[in-house]
Amino acid sequence: MKIHEYQAKEVLREYGVPTPRGVPCFSVDEAVRAAQSIAGKVWVVKAQIHAGGRGKGGGVKLAKSPDEVKTFAGQILGMQLKTHQTGPEGQKVRRLLIEEGADIDKELYVGMVVDRVTQKVCLMASSEGGMDIEEVAAHTPEKIHKVFVDPETGLNNAEADAVAAKIGIPPASVPQARAVLQALYRAFWDTDASLVEINPLVLTGDGRVLALDAKINFDANALFRHPELVALRDLDEEDAAEIEASKFGLSYISLDGNIGCLVNGAGLAMATMDTIKLYGAEPANFLDVGGGATAEKVTEAFKIMLKNPKVKGILVNIFGGIMQCDTIAKGVVAAAREVNLSVPLVVRMEGTNDEMGRQILKDSGLPIISADDMADAAQKIVAAIAEK
Ligand code: GDP
Ligand code: MN
Repeated sequence: MKIHEYQAKEVLREYGVPTPRGVPCFSVDEAVRAAQSIAGKVWVVKAQIHAGGRGKGGGVKLAKSPDEVKTFAGQILGMQLKTHQTGPEGQKVRRLLIEEGADIDKELYVGMVVDRVTQKVCLMASSEGGMDIEEVAAHTPEKIHKVFVDPETGLNNAEADAVAAKIGIPPASVPQARAVLQALYRAFWDTDASLVEINPLVLTGDGRVLALDAKINFDANALFRHPELVALRDLDEEDAAEIEASKFGLSYISLDGNIGCLVNGAGLAMATMDTIKLYGAEPANFLDVGGGATAEKVTEAFKIMLKNPKVKGILVNIFGGIMQCDTIAKGVVAAAREVNLSVPLVVRMEGTNDEMGRQILKDSGLPIISADDMADAAQKIVAAIAEK
């Protein structure tokens, strides 16, 4: 689960990470009042969307007066902000963060992720903050310093100090940087985060260490332990189809292709997507209906897939284990009737009661194309949408 920058900063402040003073705002009037309440000469008007790269996209502006805050807030609120992380259609800006401007001496990078190989939290830090860290990783990987933190001890002083020195923190500011790094680690650990990223972490003209940006992603599987974090969820930032699917217990991820797939089991769903790609087409979604799919669930899954105007065909790939193929077949037939299916539908089912399942599809009188195996199914749906 993702949250906004201003929310991430609130979380991090509780752990003692210093950030600029700031106020989240939902209107231009609020933004002006926020600027007036933050004494100073420079303010930063920041679009709050669940994507990075806002600066380059025109979503972060430096204002020199409350009047300028008003102008920029008016421009940014409601804009369709396009960044390298939003996709071509961009993301509508509904919230702003008004912050006091900082006197930046150096822009640094600090991030933390779970490293699956070592099964530890990996701290990454670089002197090259502010810009795309992906570029630094690709072209000058030696400028990214990593520490794999021992979960027994947490990030110790020596580790934190060494990293701080490597990214160019002057000796006088190292104790502050140490406190920030250790606070970030504690925040990461306590909140069951999957990613914490401060880009840029800045060194100010007077030697202070400040988090100017903040991003936190939480592990969705641990959210049941954190109702206070779930409360930070902003559904406006999430894919409508994915929200709808989650209401029915369906694991659904929107993708860019035109073949909708309905599969039981995440592994089989991934293999199905690979097979579609192998035959030259692209999946429109990942969809795992799970082990206990009912006819109702299958119908909802069809509705969600078909709401996507890009979908030109559907591939159903079912392995009947606990889930019986005849149950799925009944669901598919009911769904195809209810939604008045107008795109080609290929069904491959294998396993418990597969003969019965195929018979049900055949007896339905619907133009359902039956497939023998995964490759056959993928080829048939690719051919079917090519004909249309
Ligand atoms: P992102 O582009 O979505 O990662 O947004 P950031 O919050 O990182 O802001 C982008 C850039 O705006 C930063 O790298 C800074 O260079 C600049 N910026 C942000 N806040 C301030 C500030 O208070 N003062 C100044 N001078 N620049 C700022
Ligand atoms: Mn940033």
